[in-house]
Amino acid sequence: MGEFELIRRFFQPLSVMASREQLILGPGDDCAIQRVPADRDLVFSVDTLVEGAHFPHDYPAFNLGWRSLAVAASDLAAMGASPVCFTLALTLPAADERWLSEVARGLARASETFRLSLAGGDTTRGPLTLSLQVHGTVPAGGALRRSGARVGDRICVTGPLGNAGAALDFLGVTEPSQAQKAVLASYHFPRPPIELAQALIGAASAAIDISDGLLADLNHILSASGVGASIDPGCIPLSKALVELTGDRAVELALSAGDDYELCVCINDEALMSLPEAVRSQLTTIGRVEAGSGLRLEGGRSLSGASGYDHFGRSV
Ligand code: ADP
Ligand code: MG
Repeated sequence: MGEFELIRRFFQPLSVMASREQLILGPGDDCAIQRVPADRDLVFSVDTLVEGAHFPHDYPAFNLGWRSLAVAASDLAAMGASPVCFTLALTLPAADERWLSEVARGLARASETFRLSLAGGDTTRGPLTLSLQVHGTVPAGGALRRSGARVGDRICVTGPLGNAGAALDFLGVTEPSQAQKAVLASYHFPRPPIELAQALIGAASAAIDISDGLLADLNHILSASGVGASIDPGCIPLSKALVELTGDRAVELALSAGDDYELCVCINDEALMSLPEAVRSQLTTIGRVEAGSGLRLEGGRSLSGASGYDHFGRSV
């Protein structure tokens, strides 16, 4: 199977859900064409997943397809963007048809769920690597940034944390328990809260997606905004499955483990109250932005060892 046959069979079908008003030309020409309405800003981001670093060897191809696009879509959620399309740069050691059809099926499922059309890509031979560039739009000037947090804002998260981190211990389990299945689902099939994030535009002062761990990612907001914060680890939402599986370690996982792809959002009380109840109820307050710098944990927990993942060393 040649390169073009491979693209036509497995990837061309992912361009069908194109929003024709915005994605004017999909795969097949030298570039794709996106039309951005005059009152919107284009936001875009690229994510690379390397076998052995971002996913294990022999990771199921369907899960890989889903996860690759979900992780990329999470960056759109962090900005409050409406998804439009993505490009896929795929580096493969060999053209294994079973593997390709599974990865394409996982991508297609995520592509429908997150409403991201495949706009084009690049296909090369080499160590297994996927790079996905996602495009979305926001109302002009309205993107949620890391730098807008203000003293007094609440710090909120959009869902339970720590599940994906706990799942790392169970990736090789052949017959997982119900609780193990629940945390494994968070790792394999993250669902960034894209619609919720769009509803926070104009209300939230800052946002980030929690990919490396709450402490690490909240610290990015604090340094970008030039503020400090205190959070109460006891307020972080935890799933029943996480508590059942990890007991006392649950809170530490929720603080430090990555891969959950929920959002951490700063918002002032008035803006929070102005949101519809259906939106507000999805936010859990875990702390407040304070003057100064750095992150304090209420309840006397120490920050030692509680950092996020960093490819070139430890952070926080
Ligand atoms: P060029 O040589 O002009 O860069 P390519 O030969 O790399 O073009 O790709 C030909 C067409 O196929 C382009 O429209 C490109 O976007 C598309 N394409 C290549 N690889 C992929 C892929 N993995 N998924 C989707 N479209 C792809
Ligand atoms: Mg060309």
